[in-house]
Amino acid sequence: MATKFELSDLIRTEHFIDGKWVASIGGKRFDVTNPATGEVIATIADGGEADARAATDAAARAFPAWRDALPKDRAAVLHRWHALMLENADVLGRLISLEQGKPFAEGRGEVLYGASYVAWFADEATRIYGDLIPQQQRGKRMSAVKEPVGVVAAITPWNFPLAMIARKIAPALAVGCTVVGKPAEDTPLTALALVMLAHEAGVPPGVLNLIASSRESAVPAVADWLHDGRVRKITFTGSTPVGKYLARESAETLKKLSLELGGNAPFIVFDDADLDAAVEGLLVSKFRNGGQTCVCPNRVYVQSSVYEKFGDMLAKRVATLKVAPATDSAAQIGPMINARAVDKIARHVDDAVSKGARTLTGGKRLTALGPNYYAPTVLADATSEMQLSCEETFGPVVPLFRFEDEAEAIHAANDTPFGLASYFYSQDVRRIDRVSRQLEAGIVGINEGAISSEAAPFGGVKESGYGREGSKYGLDDYLSIKYLCQGGLD
Ligand code: ADP
Repeated sequence: MATKFELSDLIRTEHFIDGKWVASIGGKRFDVTNPATGEVIATIADGGEADARAATDAAARAFPAWRDALPKDRAAVLHRWHALMLENADVLGRLISLEQGKPFAEGRGEVLYGASYVAWFADEATRIYGDLIPQQQRGKRMSAVKEPVGVVAAITPWNFPLAMIARKIAPALAVGCTVVGKPAEDTPLTALALVMLAHEAGVPPGVLNLIASSRESAVPAVADWLHDGRVRKITFTGSTPVGKYLARESAETLKKLSLELGGNAPFIVFDDADLDAAVEGLLVSKFRNGGQTCVCPNRVYVQSSVYEKFGDMLAKRVATLKVAPATDSAAQIGPMINARAVDKIARHVDDAVSKGARTLTGGKRLTALGPNYYAPTVLADATSEMQLSCEETFGPVVPLFRFEDEAEAIHAANDTPFGLASYFYSQDVRRIDRVSRQLEAGIVGINEGAISSEAAPFGGVKESGYGREGSKYGLDDYLSIKYLCQGGLD
């Protein structure tokens, strides 16, 4: 059996349900395009309500046997899947670049990042313990055991087409849940390829099912899962409005929910910071994936005594970033995902400039490269009246806000309904302790811009959602606790 695949082998154009590739029940199809050129990469099955239902049927049927499989056998399947991902890292990286636009090095990096969750949860699968509760009454034994919740629906965004779905499927399968999934309409091909590798790795039919849907069909397809009592959990990464909609709609059947939603990450540079390190940390965290990540700094607060100097240092570095299609090996920033995304970036920058922001570098579309490119941009004199202070720009734009003292910075950083990632740079140990305690965020990068790791709990507070992915905590969302009370033992 071949284990190393060509790109053409990995481009799948049908849904994967019950171990088979199947067309949509209604026969509908939609186009997946390359954001660098607008060219159609593939025309694929467009799943609606009936396809979602067929996926749930398969997942519900497969659940009892997968739940009862030995943890070490589930772990072995996940380890084989992990090995296949690594073996095919180059080709998967190319596929990510093709449909999502990120440079190849980042696409390949995403494969390794996503695979690290699979390996992590494969190991965790064999370490799910319960408790024997100290005896309270003679003749009675009480214990708590952890059980998989059942069928899980996973809905993912386009910015990390492989990592987002891998880090939902891996913990679900590890604990014995079965999965129905729907990737984003912009980037379904990577998820379909990943499911193909999972099948090759020995995931049994029905345990993992994936349908692809256009934006239009996604609504009835997901609604079917939301209203189906057999689906016990929804795990979602995406925007806050859609997350709230899922929470509302799934309330009817009281599903367990994990919601990893939008952020509006602050990045604070105090006057005692190592400014070189702060510039590097900002470049790493802000420009990964062209600024299209939910943990990207969206608001950069710089203390006034270092404000101009930091702005100059940053703008010089940002101006050197190479914007090019993923096919150019020197590319550091690719196209944005689609026209809607570039329009939003342009709207935010124009709004800021019209309200007094100064453009230190960038500030324009790069139309010579294609319709979806935007120049890496640094704006000085940003204020809280500008749109980019309260909404995620999701692009390569750094607005610099000025602050005078620590209390003002903390207040501004927390002055948002969101609370996913936050970052700050300081070399004062007492300040580090104070600020880390006061930031209202699920994640705090302290003198560090690269915070993601499979070993760490990833997730937000406030309207950035709830639940954690990765780490030992990442399993809890897929488990429920059963209390066993055995009497008559004396
Ligand atoms: P983005 O704005 O980044 O596309 P979304 O939250 O809109 O983020 O999309 C994230 C995921 O949610 C995608 O898979 C998308 O298809 C899905 N989605 C968006 N709107 C709905 C909806 N009304 N019902 C079900 N799924 C949706």
